[in-house]
Amino acid sequence: MSGYVGRFAPSPTGPLHAGSLVAALASWLDARAHGGKWLVRIEDVDIPRCIAGADQIILSQLAQCGLLPDEAPIYQSQRGTVYQQALDQLISTGHAYPCGCTRADIAQANAQMGLSKQRHGDLVYPGTCRPQRGGLQGKPARAWRLQVPDAPDDLLVWHDRALGEQHQHLASAVGDFVIKRADGLWAYQLAVVVDDAAQGVTDIVRGEDLCDNTPRQILLQRWLGLPATRYLHTPLVLGENGEKLSKQNGAQALDLNAPLAALQSAGAALGLTAQASNLRDWLAEAIKQWCDQHLPP
Ligand SMILES: [Zn+2]
Repeated sequence: MSGYVGRFAPSPTGPLHAGSLVAALASWLDARAHGGKWLVRIEDVDIPRCIAGADQIILSQLAQCGLLPDEAPIYQSQRGTVYQQALDQLISTGHAYPCGCTRADIAQANAQMGLSKQRHGDLVYPGTCRPQRGGLQGKPARAWRLQVPDAPDDLLVWHDRALGEQHQHLASAVGDFVIKRADGLWAYQLAVVVDDAAQGVTDIVRGEDLCDNTPRQILLQRWLGLPATRYLHTPLVLGENGEKLSKQNGAQALDLNAPLAALQSAGAALGLTAQASNLRDWLAEAIKQWCDQHLPP
């Protein structure tokens, strides 16, 4: 086996749908094409959004498609101690600070600064509670934030295997972002970075909708002293309405009676034209095509 470790990290908020199968298939194919390991991680860190039993449904859907993880899945809901250690490390190195702002406070600060920029419905955090600006000033701590570099030329630059060079200025695009939420839950960004390192993940293959998280995750990796990962973001599957397929907008669950047909459509979304008429041969053909498309000759 090569040193490659890849992963698929579904949230158990419902069964897999056509869009999430594309992400699963892409990460599985890339791992197999590299002769590497493929892991599954259940991202149930946002407990209130999770549905009991959805993890088992997802794992059985993957199995019916022939996508079998090389190790038992891990569950983020069981990893709070490790996330706390990471937060403690970021606090002790001066990279994390407590924030007492409510959503309304952040909206008001944005308005006062003449900022109206919203990103995916999120306001850019203006750094109100930064230690250098006086910290909490008597407000109770609600969330913990990561202090991002804010010099004008402090671009975070990274390479994506499909999209090429990417960059983001974190301070103006996102601001200091939450790593532990006001409701006490761990933020997605922190959990993902800590878990990828703990599982030895070398390569992240996922849908383009998550591309925008990459700079925050790279910054966390750097400040936690964790190894860098490679990235490949795959095109999103859009529904007939032109919107991203998701559980939120009513994407259909996969038909488990026809796993080959489900894989063929997922493969088509990735530009694969494998033709074989049984699951095993189809997957083997798809791996060869993936190698031709994504691995250097
Ligand atoms: Zn604040």
